[in-house]
Amino acid sequence: MKKSKYSLKFIIYLTVAAIAAVLIIYLSLTKIQTGSQSPVKVQRESYRLGTIVRITLYGNDGVKLDKALGGAMDEIERLENLLSVNIASSDVSLVNRASGNYPVKVSEETGFLIGKALEWSKRTGGAFDPTVGGIVKLWGIGTKKAGIPEPVLLQQALSLTDFRKVLVIHEKSGTFIKTAKGQRIDLGGIAKGYVTDKVKELLVKEGVSSALIDLGGNIAVMGSSPKSGKWKLGLQHPFMPRGEYFGIAEVSDVSVVTSGPYERYFELDGVKYHHIFDPTTGYPSQSDLNSVTIISENSTDADALSTALFVMGLDKSVSFLHKLKNIEAVLVAKKPQGTIVYVTQNFRKAFVLKDPDMKIETALQ
Ligand code: FAD
Ligand code: MG
Repeated sequence: MKKSKYSLKFIIYLTVAAIAAVLIIYLSLTKIQTGSQSPVKVQRESYRLGTIVRITLYGNDGVKLDKALGGAMDEIERLENLLSVNIASSDVSLVNRASGNYPVKVSEETGFLIGKALEWSKRTGGAFDPTVGGIVKLWGIGTKKAGIPEPVLLQQALSLTDFRKVLVIHEKSGTFIKTAKGQRIDLGGIAKGYVTDKVKELLVKEGVSSALIDLGGNIAVMGSSPKSGKWKLGLQHPFMPRGEYFGIAEVSDVSVVTSGPYERYFELDGVKYHHIFDPTTGYPSQSDLNSVTIISENSTDADALSTALFVMGLDKSVSFLHKLKNIEAVLVAKKPQGTIVYVTQNFRKAFVLKDPDMKIETALQ
């Protein structure tokens, strides 16, 4: 009898404890689901496209973000397999192996991107030219074989550098690329931008609204930063070690792409030979610019333009920028009076200069 009374008390105690536990679990779940204090952050880094790619997503649903992140990384791999000159089975390698002897069927995406590259070649008067592939290969910058090419070979590669000779043919059976004999296409100056745009497209489809996509100098931001609203992006200082910034761009929903001679180069007898070539000489461009940053909604355009403006140099870039709509720029040039930073008028408020030794002298446009 005594024993049974104790059991009843014990059962009541257990029941109360169980109800309390359920209540605590319910309350904490409710807090997780409704709490908007700190959003979930997921990030992944990988070596792709010859650089470190890093994607960071923010939101409320970690599982959804993780899935989107996996999809984004797969998308980069898929596009690298189509567009890389270093992958033997890529569309670009197939075109280069055909060496102009026959038209090569490529994916719609490769056809589109080569078309875009040719369009920017035309608009920049050939400062941008994807047929620099022969020149790029001879110099081998960024590889163990980097060196000054034999003049005869360089002359030959130079004579094959002409975007006007590439055809993009759309037929019922698909898209075909036909180059001139011996021509070699290299999309290194535009493809990272395209990949960035495609990743962005995928993330939008996956319902991601806040993201930072960084493909090594090719950045795109989506939505606003969870910390400060605008994303604050440091612009690499052209004369300082990696990670030192000369200025900050405060942006949202744009791509920010920088080209410069300071990261991919080799040095011989005190001379630096970098990876952005002047298609009229076959040599690294003797640009008076040290860094070109383009800010645009479209990353493919920003990538092509950052390379092209570097080759064009300061004066031509300034007059070219006048003709462009919705494209902003930050250009760095060393002048006798010191290092000058040129910023387009519409971007002036979004740019904060950090290096006290540099001067913003002119607002372009
Ligand atoms: P940008 O200024 O944007 O581009 C410079 C690049 O454009 C040069 O490297 C050259 O490829 C090309 N170029 C030079 N001059 C001109 C010109 N006048 N007009 C048009 N194009 C020009 N790197 C590796 O080391 N290993 C790899 O396996 C590798 N794979 C890659 C695969 C893909 C799909 C892409 C897009 C890039 C890859 N890279 C690889 C990196 C590539 O070689 C370049 O270094 C990189 O794209 C240059 O980007 P950037 O932002 O530094 O300079
Ligand atoms: Mg570029």
